[in-house]
Amino acid sequence: MIVSKFGGTSVGTFDAMVHSASIVADNPDRKLIVISATSGTTNDLVALESPSLTSTEREQLIHDIENRHLTIISNLENRKVLISTLQRQLSELRAHLEQFGRDKRWKDKLYAFGELMSTRIFTEVLRQHGVNAEWLDARKIIKTDSTFGNATPDLAMIKKKADQLITGDAVFLTQGFIGSDIFGSTTTLGRGGSDFSAALFAEAVGADQLEIWTDVAGVYTTDPRLVSKAKPIPEITFDEAAELSVFGGKVLHPATLKPAMRSGIKVRVADSKRPEIPGTFVVTKTEKEPVVRAISLRKDQTLLTVKSLDMLHQHGFLAKLFSVLAENKISVDLVTTSEVSVSLTLDTAVKASNKVELTEKVYRQLNEFCDVEVEKNLSLIALIGNRLNVTSGISGQLFNLLKEYNIRLVCHGASAYNLCFLVDEDKGDEIVQLIHKKFIE
Ligand code: ASP
Ligand code: MG
Repeated sequence: MIVSKFGGTSVGTFDAMVHSASIVADNPDRKLIVISATSGTTNDLVALESPSLTSTEREQLIHDIENRHLTIISNLENRKVLISTLQRQLSELRAHLEQFGRDKRWKDKLYAFGELMSTRIFTEVLRQHGVNAEWLDARKIIKTDSTFGNATPDLAMIKKKADQLITGDAVFLTQGFIGSDIFGSTTTLGRGGSDFSAALFAEAVGADQLEIWTDVAGVYTTDPRLVSKAKPIPEITFDEAAELSVFGGKVLHPATLKPAMRSGIKVRVADSKRPEIPGTFVVTKTEKEPVVRAISLRKDQTLLTVKSLDMLHQHGFLAKLFSVLAENKISVDLVTTSEVSVSLTLDTAVKASNKVELTEKVYRQLNEFCDVEVEKNLSLIALIGNRLNVTSGISGQLFNLLKEYNIRLVCHGASAYNLCFLVDEDKGDEIVQLIHKKFIE
């Protein structure tokens, strides 16, 4: 059994839906299909939550959502039913907006409209392609806790519900991103969470393969917009891919891999417009194990350096430092230390969703026992591969290549799959190009 997930751009227009539906129709093993909202819709829904929106702006956003879906529907045979379903959903959306910000459940319910709309339409497109498709409400299966906006799945419950509901011959079509808590309230798994949903479904049904259909032909050796010679990687291990996604790879959501990895489910990432290209397989063990398989670049890094002479021959300093960070829910990426100072980078992936803030309070708490310095405008470059921690000469070659540049911080040795360092943001692109040329091209 294959679980196939189609992202927003793969269901964003009628043509995209047709491509995706032919992929489903092409292989009877594709029995559980998970899709995102049509591209742009979740962003529109998020924009609708802004309290400063004028009523004209609000109407415009709703109009955009309506139009995007109506345009797709206008190409379909079973138009009438679909239009009335969409109209019902839009009036529910308006009614929901009337209850603006009512409680902590409000936003998740708002965000869920995107996937609920796209799945209704795609079910019909599948049927037109001869697929015996059945619409399934993901909230009946993806049971989560009540952390709205970023819910944690209840794996045992998901398994149980999947066993009960995913049976028979039909091809099930369901929503990514959404779930529900024990009270039945809609929850969401965080932006971009559809990949994670799909992996949870794949784990629950014991799938042989999870497919992530997107708009690029797999995971690239580096961002192809930066390096024209970047190529899709045919095979990569979970360990490497985890480093890649954590450190800024854009194709995979970091959490996606966890359920697939622990259950040993092969993941395929491929382009829904060019399904004949195999894309990238993420597997437990690959045939080739190059020292450098990929290079990732992550911009907008914050480097925090704390110094304290009290640290000299003392114990407990790191514990104290990290407990302040933990207490303030600040997630850390990299750490290097000397006898009297510690440098660390903050996890900007989390910051993007407004969770990490170096507030006055954090400064105050840290200043009680150390000096704090903050640097910005840095980029993190990571080499992803194998045996990076035990391969002789790798850092020599790398830093010799970069001898003209200022390397701000290096992390090497903690992971066999990752060697990374910080550079000035305006030098990031050219450094990635240099490294790609030397180690990959
Ligand atoms: N539609 C959701 C989002 O845009 C989930 C996803 O696409 O993965 O964040
Ligand atoms: Mg997405």
